[in-house]
Amino acid sequence: MKALKPHLLALPDYPYTMAQALIKLDQNESPYGLPPELKAELASRLAELPLNRYPRMHAETLAERIADFEGWPEAGVVVGPGSNTIIFALVAAAQRVLDVSPSFVHYEHSAHLLGAPYRAVPLREGFELPVAELQEALGEGEPGVFFLPNPHTPTGAFFAPERVSSLCQTAAAAEWLMIIDEAYYQFAPADMKRQALGEAHLGILRTFSKAWGLAGARAGYLLASEEVARVVRNLLPPFGVPAPTALAVELALEHPGYVAEAVEKVRRERDRVYLELKAHPTWRAYPSHTNFLLIRTPDAAAAYQGLLKKGVLVRRQDHLPGLAGAIRVTIGTPVENDAFLQAAFELAREERGNEKESEDATGED
Ligand code: PMP
Repeated sequence: MKALKPHLLALPDYPYTMAQALIKLDQNESPYGLPPELKAELASRLAELPLNRYPRMHAETLAERIADFEGWPEAGVVVGPGSNTIIFALVAAAQRVLDVSPSFVHYEHSAHLLGAPYRAVPLREGFELPVAELQEALGEGEPGVFFLPNPHTPTGAFFAPERVSSLCQTAAAAEWLMIIDEAYYQFAPADMKRQALGEAHLGILRTFSKAWGLAGARAGYLLASEEVARVVRNLLPPFGVPAPTALAVELALEHPGYVAEAVEKVRRERDRVYLELKAHPTWRAYPSHTNFLLIRTPDAAAAYQGLLKKGVLVRRQDHLPGLAGAIRVTIGTPVENDAFLQAAFELAREERGNEKESEDATGED
């Protein structure tokens, strides 16, 4: 196919395979979503929506509401149909891309799609932020866009604001644009929005897909300088945020109280699942400041398949650098989390049973 850029034909697909299961804990979604009374209100507002008309060009009404909610100048707010699309636009704008490794795969995937030079600095032992190595990378060559997810995905780690701040200073001095992807900030102890306000070399990316429980609506936003926002907006398709999406998110922003409640429940459950997994003989969960847990197992394929057979869908992460044996489980409702824990411990007992059988068969003790 000569019509298309040859590198695109050779690129792998985005690494997600859909699977059916009774209990879906594979995409870091909220188990709660909009409360029923808001859903009813949304249904009646949707009934009035003139779907024969285009929505605003760049969801300006929604951008205005987000600006109010976040205390950010409206000209610096960019809304997209999912923060994924904003990442793609940022990469399209970038001279080059700097990342950490492992990381949220969409930064690297976008860089390869768009042909942007890409470099990733490995996290240190224990998923620590490699500040010195990143500072070195920021000091070398021409500037570009540096993506840092904090809280970090896929590990769930949280990088201390002082350490992130020192990177922001280096990035600004070297004229990089640093984007802190705060997709999970509601689950963490702190965020960087205040530091970013008025700082031209720093942007904050957020989404309605996680704590807000609106993954199906598809909406995310960037908080940046007016100049950066204008460039990114121009790289997004016009009229790209569907009117029903804008309506749903505007309604959620009128009643943000439900989010804190959902976040509190998820945080409590996350800490409970983490503690209960300590009794697991072979799986080890890492501390998390998100709505998911990264778990090191002896064999990710076996863990994934074993859980799936018991009706629990999680995500394999063992294809990522430094994450051999890792799976990721999203925190669900207490009932869903119990089902996950029960399946995890059953698998351990079955494994022990199999080992014992083969020991008996070989006569070892
Ligand atoms: N950033 C991070 C760190 C994520 O984990 C995700 C979703 N998995 C996104 C961005 C994209 O979110 P969305 O496109 O749903 O806004």
